[in-house]
Amino acid sequence: MSTQKFTRRSVLAGAAGLTASLVVRGSAGASKRHRFAVVGRGPMGAAAARHLATAGEDVVVVGPEEPEDWSQHEGAFASHYDEGRQFELASSEKVLVRLAKDSVRGFQEVEKATGIAFFRRHSNLRVGPAGFSDDHYYNWDGIDAVGREFGVETVHLDDQGLSEKFPQFRFESGSRGLVEPNGGVINPRRMVKAQLRAAEANRATVISDEVLALNRRSGDIEVVLKNGKSISADQVLIAAGAFTNSAKLLERRLVMYLYGVTAVLVEVPGESRPDMPTFTCRFGSEEKSPVCFAMPPLQYPDGRWYIKGATASSVDSPIAGDDGIGPWFRGKGVGEDPKLVVGMLRKLLPGFEPGKARALPCMVSYTPTGNPYIDRIDERVGVAVGGNAWGVMTSDEIGRMA
Ligand SMILES: Cc1cc2nc3c(=O)[nH]c(=O)nc-3n(C[C@H](O)[C@H](O)[C@H](O)COP(=O)(O)OP(=O)(O)OC[C@H]3O[C@@H](n4cnc5c(N)ncnc54)[C@H](O)[C@@H]3O)c2cc1C
Repeated sequence: MSTQKFTRRSVLAGAAGLTASLVVRGSAGASKRHRFAVVGRGPMGAAAARHLATAGEDVVVVGPEEPEDWSQHEGAFASHYDEGRQFELASSEKVLVRLAKDSVRGFQEVEKATGIAFFRRHSNLRVGPAGFSDDHYYNWDGIDAVGREFGVETVHLDDQGLSEKFPQFRFESGSRGLVEPNGGVINPRRMVKAQLRAAEANRATVISDEVLALNRRSGDIEVVLKNGKSISADQVLIAAGAFTNSAKLLERRLVMYLYGVTAVLVEVPGESRPDMPTFTCRFGSEEKSPVCFAMPPLQYPDGRWYIKGATASSVDSPIAGDDGIGPWFRGKGVGEDPKLVVGMLRKLLPGFEPGKARALPCMVSYTPTGNPYIDRIDERVGVAVGGNAWGVMTSDEIGRMA
C-alpha cells in the first residue's frame, strides 16, 4: 500500500474539480425524471435510498442482482454478498465508533418496519500476545479511551480469565483478551433486502441493472443503464463500492485502495455447533504473525452451517488496476487460506471437528484517511463509498449522512 499521505479534504478538493462530464455509452430511452438516483444497491446505497424515501424524496436506486454463477459473471460484484459481518465498537477509531453506534437506531427501525431481522447482539473477543500492541486492533489504551467517551463496554482478560470465560478455546499461554459483550452480528444480504423494502414502502423505485454512464445535461443527469434504457434525475449519489472508479461514472478517480480478501467458509458438520463469540486472534508479535478472524456458526443459503474465517492475507492481495477486480471475484482467492484457517480453528477450538472448507472471494475498499467519503463531488453528484472493512456496521448512518 502506498505510504503517501492524503487528507480527506485534499482528496475531495481534487474530486470537486470535476467539470461537467459527457460520458454516454449505450442507447437511452425517455423516462420519468426523479429527484435523486442512487447508483449501487449495497449497504450504503440501500441505506441512502431508504433515508431519502422516508424523508419524502423521490428516489430511484439502481444496482444489479447477485450473480448466480460468480465464476462466469462479467458485471459488477459486491462486498456484502455474505451472511455475516461483525458489529464491533471496541475500537480506537472514533469515526468508526460514532458511525456504527448511530447506525443501530436505523437498523432497529428497518427491522421493525419490514419484519426482516438482520442484526443481533453477540459478544466479540479479541486475543493477542500480552505484550503486543499496534495502532489498530491491539491499541488497548486507545480502545479504552474511545470506549469511555462513547460508552462502549469492554472487559480485559488475562490468561486465567480467558480460560475461565472461554473454556472451549485454547489460547497460547501469555495471551491477553478483550471482550465486547454488546458486539453483534449483521446479516448483510438480509440488511440490504430490508433497507430496500423499507425504501420501496416509502415509494422509492428499485431497478435491477448496472449504470453504464452519467450524462450531465443542462437540466438533469441522464443515467444510462446496461439494458439500453435511461433514467433522468436531478442529483445522483454514487455508492458502487469497489467498482466506484472502474464504473467510470466520475471524470476523475477517487483515491481508493482495493484489496482482495479470501473469506473461508468452514462447514460445521452435524447438529452440535460451537458456542463462540466473533473473534480475532493473533498468534505472535511479529508483523507477519498469523491472525485468524472468525464469525460464529451461521446458516448459509445452501442450508448448511459454516464458521466464516479469514487470515490477514488481504494485506498481500492488493488489486492491481480496474481490470483486476472482476478476476478476483471470479477466482478462488488465496489458495492456501482455507487450509490455514482450518488449521487455526483446530488449534483454537480443540473440540471442533471442521468439515470441508472453501474460499469466498471478497474485496475491501480503503481510503487514505481510513474514513469513508460521504460528500458531494460537484453540485449534482455525491458519493458514499470507502467501507474501509467496516462499511456494513456503519452503513445506516453513512446512508443518512449522504
Ligand atoms: C471478508 C470481508 C469481511 C468483512 N467484514 C466486515 C465486518 O465484519 N463488518 C463490517 O462492517 N464490514 C465488513 N466488511 C466490509 C463491508 O462488507 C463493506 O465495507 C461493505 O459491503 C461496503 O458497502 P458498499 O455499499 O460500499 O459496497 P458493496 O457492498 O460492494 O455494494 C456496492 C453495490 O454497488 C453495485 N454496483 C457496482 N457498480 C455498479 C454500477 N455500475 N451500477 C449500479 N450498481 C453498481 C454493486 O453491485 C453492489 O451491489 C468486510 C468485507 C469483507 C470483504
